[in-house]
Amino acid sequence: MSYIKETIEKLKQTSPAQVEFYQAVEDVLESIEPLLEERPKYREHSIIERLVEPERQIMFRVPWMDDDGNIQVNKGYRIEFNSALGPYKGGLRFHPSVNAGIIKFLGFEQIFKNALTGLPIGGGKGGANFNPKGKSDAEIMRFCQSFMSELYRHIGPNTDVPAGDIGVGSREIGYLFGQYKRLANRFDGVLTGKSLLWGGSHARKEATGYGAVYFAQCMMDDKGDSLEGKRCLISGSGNVAIYAMEKLYDLGARPISCSDSSGTIYHEQGIDLDLVKRIKEEQKGRLEEYLETHNNAEYTPRDDYPKDGHSVWRYKADLAFPCATQNELTAKDAQSLLENGCKCIVEGANMPSTQAAVDLFIESGAAYGPGKAANAGGVATSQLEMVQNASMLRWDFDEVDEKLKGIMSNIYHDAKRTAEDFGHPSNLVLGANIAGFRKVADAMIEQGVV
Ligand code: GLU
Repeated sequence: MSYIKETIEKLKQTSPAQVEFYQAVEDVLESIEPLLEERPKYREHSIIERLVEPERQIMFRVPWMDDDGNIQVNKGYRIEFNSALGPYKGGLRFHPSVNAGIIKFLGFEQIFKNALTGLPIGGGKGGANFNPKGKSDAEIMRFCQSFMSELYRHIGPNTDVPAGDIGVGSREIGYLFGQYKRLANRFDGVLTGKSLLWGGSHARKEATGYGAVYFAQCMMDDKGDSLEGKRCLISGSGNVAIYAMEKLYDLGARPISCSDSSGTIYHEQGIDLDLVKRIKEEQKGRLEEYLETHNNAEYTPRDDYPKDGHSVWRYKADLAFPCATQNELTAKDAQSLLENGCKCIVEGANMPSTQAAVDLFIESGAAYGPGKAANAGGVATSQLEMVQNASMLRWDFDEVDEKLKGIMSNIYHDAKRTAEDFGHPSNLVLGANIAGFRKVADAMIEQGVV
């Protein structure tokens, strides 16, 4: 049995029923095979065996009271995966699908994503199986306060700095921060994604979406092409999708779709972004409401999606930006994108394409930007927020945005150069995984067996 297969088999025994985690590990291990051959020291130092085991896993009860006076209980997690390059850094996800395996997959990805940014941040992730949908503001606040009542003792500006992810935006960060401050009696940069009023960074909200589009720009540049006039399919309608669409419009492209967990909007003349912002950011409503303003748009409810696929990927487009969630884009979806002439796929979400879909993209020769490289702009800007907090300064929007652009370009060129060095010039999965892994592995060796 190969070393990689053996590692996965062992994981299945020691960490049972964590399929998304195995998928994320397999993705990294398969691409770094040529590196492991070239540098036997990684095996001598048991880097893989150490890397797949989180440094610390915190699991806790989150009890809270709903508006009817019933006691509710959720599972809370913070997985401090790897601190070779800096304090643990990564978001918190509040979603009913959250379990230890999901948080481990996200934490594992985060290690390499953060390494790729070139900034001094380790990898971590957390969250809860809490469903924020339909909850009142007071319920969200009580949940966040209960969650932080345990989490506060594990985090700190030089230890572990959580941020947002699915279900955790500026409102939740506010409630979490308030409770942290109350318990710790400290006002410090212990969370990122904070409000601009009290320590947040300009451009953090926009950063993941903008960053993914800057990454796409680098990919198009390399083909001697640009985003100008391109038709773009987007999935999702959260923070990542909204600001990816905004930057696409800025650069002359046309986003023609978006989606939420209930259905997909397709609007040939271009998505009305102000309306999506109003529905999603202000009213926290459903995308279906889009039709009340634009009856020439097409809405497909989730129940009408094709079997084994998502309805958003069946339209004709030049580029695709999966910005919703893991494994939202299947082999069938990849096939229909490619058949319809899509030449560039850029992942705004974490691991949105199944392994079979990724294989199809790579075989086809389409330009494929994996999430851990293309969506690293969010966490990179979080680190810029940490820098501003530590120095008690605030940079203006353009300064942060310029830095973000530079970081995305560096990530792209680092991954591209590494892919070329290893003889697979268009395989950015291999390039990103090797470039990220190498930094973490070398740091681990230098820090000894810890
Ligand atoms: N949740 C985001 C990610 O997946 C951002 C994490 C952060 O800003 O720490 O990278």
